[in-house]
Order: sequence, then C-alpha cells, then structure tokens
Amino acid sequence: MKLGAIEAGGTKFVCAVSDENINVEDRAQFPTTTPAETMAQVFAYFEQHPVDAIGIGSFGPVSLNQDADNYGFITNTPKLAWKNYDFLGAMKAHFDIPYYFTTDVNVAAYGEYQAGAGRGKKNILYWTVGTGVGAGYIQNGEFLQGYSHPEMGHILLRHDPRDLGFEGVCPYHGDCFEGLAAGPSIEKRFGKKGNELDPSNEFWEIEANYIAQACVNATLILRPDIIIFGGGVMKQSQLFPQIQTEFVKQMADYVDFPEISNYIVHVELGDDAGITGALMLAKKATE
Ligand code: ADP
Ligand code: ZN
Repeated sequence: MKLGAIEAGGTKFVCAVSDENINVEDRAQFPTTTPAETMAQVFAYFEQHPVDAIGIGSFGPVSLNQDADNYGFITNTPKLAWKNYDFLGAMKAHFDIPYYFTTDVNVAAYGEYQAGAGRGKKNILYWTVGTGVGAGYIQNGEFLQGYSHPEMGHILLRHDPRDLGFEGVCPYHGDCFEGLAAGPSIEKRFGKKGNELDPSNEFWEIEANYIAQACVNATLILRPDIIIFGGGVMKQSQLFPQIQTEFVKQMADYVDFPEISNYIVHVELGDDAGITGALMLAKKATE
C-alpha cells in the first residue's frame, strides 16, 4: 500500500509518498500561487506517484463540517485566489480514493502526537507560532472539533503593560494572540525579523507573557497532558523557561498540571511533523 500526503501551506505545498510504515519514498514542493497552477502540479505529482489514500493538511480556515455544503473547502482566507476553493472536491474529482482532510496545524499535531513530543500522551495541544498562530487539540486520538475546527490562534489576550501602545497586526482582530505574538508582529515592532533580535532582548519576556496567557487559557478550557510548540518564532529556545515561569505565576496554583518542564515543550519532529501526520492520517482513512 502506498500513502500520500499534502501539506498545503500559505507559501508552499509539500507532497509526499510513503509505504504503509510511513517511510517517505518521495517528496516534492510547489509554490502556493493560484489553485489552477498549484493544483495542476499536485495532480501531476500523484499521477506520477499513484497512492491508495491521501492525508491533506490545508491552510485555512477550512470547512470541516461534514454536514455543510462547503465541507472540504478553503473558506474565508485572505489569499483571495483560494477563497471558497473546493480543495477536497477537486482532489476527489481527480483521484477516487479515501482522503483525510483537515487543517495544516492538525496534521502537524497528529505527527507530534504519534511520533514526536506527544508520544504516549492521550490529550495533546499543539501550537504553531510562525507567520500566523494556529492550534490543534487531539483528545484520545481524535481532533477536537465542533461546528468546525477551533481557531485558538485568535483568542483575545491582555496586553503586556510594556506593550500597551502596540495595536497588533491581525487583519481581523488587531491585538488577538496572533496579532500580538506571531512573527509579523515582531517585524512590525522592530522593523526586523525575530531571528535578528538578540535572545536577551526584553521583548522575549513580553512574547513569553502572551504565550503563557494562551497556555493558561488552554489549560483552563482543555486540561491537556502536554502543550507542544512549533513554528519559526519558537526556535527562540530562551522562550521556553520564560513561558514556563510566567505560566506558573499566572496560574497561581489554581489547577494542577504536569511537571512544568514536561508540560510546555518544543516540537520534536520539527518541519517533518506535518508530512508525517498527513501520511498517518492517510493510513487512518484506509481503515
Ligand atoms: P510559516 O508559519 O509560514 O509556516 P514559520 O513557522 O517558519 O513559517 O514562521 C515564519 C515566521 O517566523 C516569520 O515571521 C519569521 O520571521 C519567524 N521566524 C523564523 N525563524 C525565527 C527565529 N529563529 N526566531 C524568531 N522568529 C523566527
Ligand atoms: Zn486575530
């Protein structure tokens, strides 16, 4: 059996093929331009590399409501060429095989859950802090989902007192979590990228405060076994002790949680999490 994966990101699509044990045999990537151009490359790829099922993780928002007419669509994205694009429908029209369709963040969460930092845990929360902020929650092997997928990257936080003047960069909410803490917010504040700021810059304490607030909210709502962070901004490893300290302070002994250094942790699979998870979900789609 051959398994396929599509990690559809805002800047690039990654396609991959593996055997049934998730050993990756081939991988290719295409820039995210228009559906006509990018999807033609995806179709050509899987014509050359036939598979028995495909796991798809897409940038979004996407519709995951199986009862809705737009199930499997990319919906309200600022990338206008992709707005209301029937991603899953287009795939099905080309290849009549089983699919697992979910968000880009969920496939990475699934990879970490099965093969990364979340191995052996039942309930994992995965966040990515990069160009945007996104989250996926897996409870007993299933993605948490209601009317559609959660959008925990856009929760509302309190401004750090040292950051009161900053209005945030989220095109929808301004100063939501993503607006205050994703990579582009750092560029807006400093005129340079996060990786160009000194790790000892006081800003990282402000960043840690926002991320800790998000962890407090998520802990109160979900009580996960572990909170796993990936994405470009989280490559700043000094953030982890800062977030952990700040989280303990903000939680103020209200609820208990796992030992803090094992509770708020960095991803293990890094950039492979998405493809690994998508391949595993393709396998799940065949079962
Ligand atoms: P994407 O979210 O587009 O998939 P990334 O997770 O790599 O991609 O996030 C990119 C964002 O993270 C950019 O805003 C970039 O400036 C920021 N970034 C990348 N590397 C670092 C780093 N080492 N430290 C801080 N910020 C970083
Ligand atoms: Zn927002």
